[in-house]
Amino acid sequence: MKDKLQLMIPGPTPVPESVLLAMARHPIGHRSGEFQAIVKRTTEQLQWLHQTKGNVLVLAGSGTAAMEAGIINVLSKGDRVICGDNGKFGERWVKVAKAYGLDVQVISAEWGQPLDPEAFRAALEADTGKQIKAVIITHSETSTGVLNDLETINRHVKAHGEALIVVDAVTSIGATSVPVDAWGLDVVASGSQKGYMMPPGLGFVAMGERAWKAHEHSDLPKFYLNLGPYRKTAAKDSNPFTPAVNLYFALETALEIMQKEGLEAIFARHSRQQRATQAAMQAIGLPLYAAPGHGSPSITAVAPEGLDAEAVRKVVKNRYDILLAGGQDHLKGKVFRIGHLGFVCDRDILTAVAAIEGALVELGRPPAQPGAGVAAAAAVLQS
Ligand SMILES: *Cc1c(COP(=O)(O)O)cnc(C)c1O
Repeated sequence: MKDKLQLMIPGPTPVPESVLLAMARHPIGHRSGEFQAIVKRTTEQLQWLHQTKGNVLVLAGSGTAAMEAGIINVLSKGDRVICGDNGKFGERWVKVAKAYGLDVQVISAEWGQPLDPEAFRAALEADTGKQIKAVIITHSETSTGVLNDLETINRHVKAHGEALIVVDAVTSIGATSVPVDAWGLDVVASGSQKGYMMPPGLGFVAMGERAWKAHEHSDLPKFYLNLGPYRKTAAKDSNPFTPAVNLYFALETALEIMQKEGLEAIFARHSRQQRATQAAMQAIGLPLYAAPGHGSPSITAVAPEGLDAEAVRKVVKNRYDILLAGGQDHLKGKVFRIGHLGFVCDRDILTAVAAIEGALVELGRPPAQPGAGVAAAAAVLQS
């Protein structure tokens, strides 16, 4: 049915009507006082979301631009870095680091498994010459639905003393706590189409003091993504280049909604919906792909053994107008992924679970107990 498609993919995510309407006006001059007021306001709101007093800079670009900016603003030619790789996004940061000629040591884990913090500890402790300049990791690995243990890995990075931590928090900011100042995270990147309840188009980079120190002597090539001018103009509530003016309108409105809900309530909602989704899949006999206890708060990957995951997705989309994400690379046809990130209410979870149950019936693999998934999800959502 036209205009009924419900997005339950891990980005773009659904957008509240008030956020859409905020964008539906003429752009205003980006050097005007009116726009400066919006930059000032959104800067404070972004600091609130990131739990930091430091800079959170806004780029016109997707999450990848934010992450690339983070990497190239704190590192120099030939620097040694460790990249964590346990999925599609971890893999991407290895590629970016190599594209800039960094000396990359990869610490990997099988897809579906979390990165092992001990492997980071060992590699960092072995580096007595303090050659490792950064550890680059993905917090919530969207391709597999795994949440990596950022807090512990970061503790090992801090013990090293020299290396910075560069975090892809694209599907964790706005879903679970990423306390930038309390944990001393140096670089944290995210994008608007994920936990922000906004359309795609903005990237965000939080930079700590140590990151700015490294920026002073970073010699990797950069111009548009040089964060120096962004910091300088942000101090005057402005931007170095023409910003995505209408997306700023959306940002202000979306963050206002988030502030009304409150950080703790937002995290609790994501956790509740994650647990409800997991319980539902288990109740209908569909195995979870992520290792137990390591699921992401924003995305649940499901591996329907003996069933084509793409067939499930197709029925859910064509009959029930709900878009689930498929598996990437070797997981295509093996997993489907349920996004529960951003502007998602409990009803969306119940509806998605019911649609998946309906698809199983249609594909000749009905759950042993009809409605067991919905019942399991409802029980968690009501608790
Ligand atoms: C979506 C996503 C990104 C950014 O992807 P873009 O398409 O560039 O916005 C990066 N990391 C993770 C974990 C993501 O889910």
